[in-house]
Amino acid sequence: MSEIQTRFRIGDVVFKAATVQDSKQHPCPDCLGSRKWTATSPAGGEYTFECPRCSTRFQSHDALCLTYIVRSPSVAKLTIGSIRVDTADNNPVSYMCRETGIGSGTIHYEHDLFATEEEATAAANLRAAKETAEIDWISKLYDKTLSLSDYQLENAVTAATRKARIDFEVAADNLINDLDESETRGDVRARVDEFKKAIAA
Ligand SMILES: [Zn+2]
Repeated sequence: MSEIQTRFRIGDVVFKAATVQDSKQHPCPDCLGSRKWTATSPAGGEYTFECPRCSTRFQSHDALCLTYIVRSPSVAKLTIGSIRVDTADNNPVSYMCRETGIGSGTIHYEHDLFATEEEATAAANLRAAKETAEIDWISKLYDKTLSLSDYQLENAVTAATRKARIDFEVAADNLINDLDESETRGDVRARVDEFKKAIAA
């Protein structure tokens, strides 16, 4: 039987490479980043109000929203508190750390831990870029926000409405074709549920 060597010992300070979900924002083409609009009344009064494109009011209308999700790198400094070796596990060496609980708490796999902050940062950067590109719904959301982020508010509303109408027409067209070919009541029910989900997205 081969013996597994662990890279770290109890008491070692290590750096964990991880990623976190992060919300970012495309630059706003309406307020140019100031987040404020000013208006002058006919009587000459000047008013300042929050940019409607950047303010939270559009959160529910995500086609107009400038925010998008990415995976960002994250590095944590930890101290090894216990070591677990399980030869049957795909990740045979894992650790528990003083900062995150020993006995019960977070399990840290050896491949996520590094001796220096530089190594952990490089690994976390690489993983964040890979995850952001690979996670389908994130890249779709990014494309969607990017396609509308350059429009100024008025045009963005028009473009978003047009896109929503086209999406709906395509979904309805597919639904009718599929219903035509459905043989059982169950098929119909499943297809209708799918359609409802598609138009809600
Ligand atoms: Zn704005």
